[in-house]
Amino acid sequence: MSLSAFLRSESATNAETQKFDLIVIGGGITGAGITLDATLRGLKVLLIEKDDFAFGTSSRSTKLIHGGLRYLKNLEFGLVKELGMERAVVHRIAPHLTIPEKMLTPIVKNGTYGKLLSAIGIGLYDLLAKVKKVERRQMLDIEQTTKAEPLLRKEILLGSALYYEYRTDDARLTIEIIKTAVSKGAVCLNYTQVNSFEYTNNVVSGVKAFDSIEKKFRIFTSSMVVNAAGPWVDDLRKLNEEIKGKYLHLTKGVHIVVPKEKLPVKQAVYFDVFDGRMIFIIPRHQITYIGTTDTDYKGNIDKPSIKYEDAQYLVKAVNYMLPDVNLKIKDIISGWAGLRPLIHQDNKNTSEISRKDEIFISDSQLISIAGGKLTGYRKMSEKVVDFVIKKLGLIHVKSNTDKVKLSGGNFENYTDVELFKEKICNFFNQNFENASEVASRLVHLYGQNTDEIIALFLNEVMNFDPEEALIRSELLYCLKYEGIQTISDFFIRRTGMVYFEPNKVEKYKHVISDCLHLHLNKSEETINKEKLDLEYAIELNIGFKKML
Ligand code: FAD
Repeated sequence: MSLSAFLRSESATNAETQKFDLIVIGGGITGAGITLDATLRGLKVLLIEKDDFAFGTSSRSTKLIHGGLRYLKNLEFGLVKELGMERAVVHRIAPHLTIPEKMLTPIVKNGTYGKLLSAIGIGLYDLLAKVKKVERRQMLDIEQTTKAEPLLRKEILLGSALYYEYRTDDARLTIEIIKTAVSKGAVCLNYTQVNSFEYTNNVVSGVKAFDSIEKKFRIFTSSMVVNAAGPWVDDLRKLNEEIKGKYLHLTKGVHIVVPKEKLPVKQAVYFDVFDGRMIFIIPRHQITYIGTTDTDYKGNIDKPSIKYEDAQYLVKAVNYMLPDVNLKIKDIISGWAGLRPLIHQDNKNTSEISRKDEIFISDSQLISIAGGKLTGYRKMSEKVVDFVIKKLGLIHVKSNTDKVKLSGGNFENYTDVELFKEKICNFFNQNFENASEVASRLVHLYGQNTDEIIALFLNEVMNFDPEEALIRSELLYCLKYEGIQTISDFFIRRTGMVYFEPNKVEKYKHVISDCLHLHLNKSEETINKEKLDLEYAIELNIGFKKML
């Protein structure tokens, strides 16, 4: 099996001739996790994604693998325990994608928690999540806190708690799970939208889907179908039959990105805002990002955007807690808006709705899964696959996804990742002044697969300057191993450049579109449309700046 963009047509046509045990709809983290788990347990699995892999919420989160400390406020001990333990598992199977990040939570006068409650809360979190000793929380006094983060508003400080969370790249985590599943035999198709279900004796037995690359319908058959379409779960449930019982409640969360020099925090900060919500400030290479908002969403699910008032809310929050920063809307260089596929609960406001996942089974046996978190994807997947195996009447095989390293992540531990980064840095020393930064970016995106990119780079650098040679090598790698089809796939989800290095998008978008044109034999018209799509995606993120 292959995820090569060059073999996509062959894989899709071949898949039409087979009967799968399971079809999974949705190539976000949930669908990816289910596909890997089911494949490892011996099922024949087809994953179908309507856009690019991780197009939905799984490229628009806060990008943390975390235990969800704030859910202790809602007394969700079970959820915190499960997420906390999963945090360690994801770190073990993909250490290059789970970077330990110091997190400072200031304790302030009239804040949600006092010093004692914070100490108890975070202590409880350490205990529930079985946090390893070196990463457990430390309580800091006022002096220690201002030393740790001199930008904090001093007159309201009572102290702080310092602990660790893991920073990730949600879209990369999703694609590495998909690549791992493909290497074990799964078939994964992007740009294929399920439009209707096929039935045998009133039971779902396949799907009819539109392949938007080849512009044709395809029919795929299987014994069972799982709907893991995130915010679109209810759309597919409605395609299947009338929704009975629980339904989704979508809330929008926005992040904004500013250059590091505008918000030079020394570590991540997680703080209370005026309305009782909590907000993250997270440094990442040359930028700092801030999020998130949490508001009800009823708009177009394909196109959530950042509104002026979303950005204003986050800027105001930063300026309140870090007054010397004096952040302005005009400092924002990019951002993203995502939708939480939560399960509606009466009389609860957006922040109070549980992040727990739930499975729904329709009369015609469509299995739908919704809710949950990026961090808990493995447990969600395990639950679904246990259910599928039971329904198929197969002998129960235990999930072993906790033991299978993800593509690019075959490191013993995080120290190994650091050593690998040094090796890559040594290689690039002769080509780049900022070799250490280049190495860090690559290793935290591609892990050990950086070696493949270097092999391509050796060729490209004979014809182009190092920076261009590297971006071309990344593109070739993504074509060969990550099934990219469009310019946006590359700039948004594989490299995150739209969010974190927008200047590079501007500089190289023509190079990348020319390469795609050449390698995928695309028409001028298609390439022009893709360029407009990229512009539009960027417009959704920073179009609000036009109001300045
Ligand atoms: P999605 O990622 O949306 O995937 C569903 C996929 O289904 C999409 O790619 C879509 O294109 C596809 N699809 C839809 N319809 C069809 C169709 N008809 N045919 C084929 N494919 C279809 N969790 C954490 O653990 N840590 C965090 O830091 C964190 N922060 C968050 C911040 C925000 C603002 C938000 C919104 C969420 C955050 N979460 C976080 C939660 C987490 O991101 C989500 O729970 C998770 O990404 C949902 O993944 P999913 O696969 O269920 O949905």
